[in-house]
Amino acid sequence: MEVVVVLDFDGTVTQKDIGDEVCDRFAPPIWRDIDAAWVRREISLPEAQRRMWALARCQRQEAVDYARQIGHLRAGLDRFLDAVLLCGGRLWLASGGFDFYVEAILAKRLQKFERAFFNRTRFADGKIEVEFPHSGLACSFCAVCKGLVCDQARQTYPEREIIFVGDGASDRCAVGRADRLFAVRGSLLEKSCREVDAPYVAFDGLDELIES
Ligand SMILES: [Mg+2]
Ligand SMILES: [Zn+2]
Repeated sequence: MEVVVVLDFDGTVTQKDIGDEVCDRFAPPIWRDIDAAWVRREISLPEAQRRMWALARCQRQEAVDYARQIGHLRAGLDRFLDAVLLCGGRLWLASGGFDFYVEAILAKRLQKFERAFFNRTRFADGKIEVEFPHSGLACSFCAVCKGLVCDQARQTYPEREIIFVGDGASDRCAVGRADRLFAVRGSLLEKSCREVDAPYVAFDGLDELIES
């Protein structure tokens, strides 16, 4: 069966969460308290991001350079992307992260994605302002809801199998909404699947997904 692969970015395409790393580098440590409040679901992700990113101080080029420097890709990424396309599959990127680092790190690979959803940033006077342009894909917790992206993939391609691949707390909405779910081994997403007894397959390298 032909597939649509909905792929998370931070911690899935990349080894690290780039948004977190950039905040760590350019914002005071208190940003972690805001992040923790979101993981506990006390505030929404966009609200957390608005507050976290408001603390960061840097120029766009500095942030892009740093993202490139730390943006190591997960093993097997290119083999996986090419294998999906070779089998007639569609690639959708669903990220709650931001344009400047997704574009810098994926570069030409971005063209392999039929659709790519992520948020936007505006750099001015050494500060970063975040924007959430995909209002149609927002739920009460996410600006780019992975569950709603899976729904949209299903509406667009009712005859295809919808596969979700992710790692984080921001991927929880995809649990139960895709036909198959792959979670980075040891990730918060894996933990969430266990907690609700939802079926998933754990992986380390993305090329492990080609066989299954
Ligand atoms: Mg992630
Ligand atoms: Zn959601």
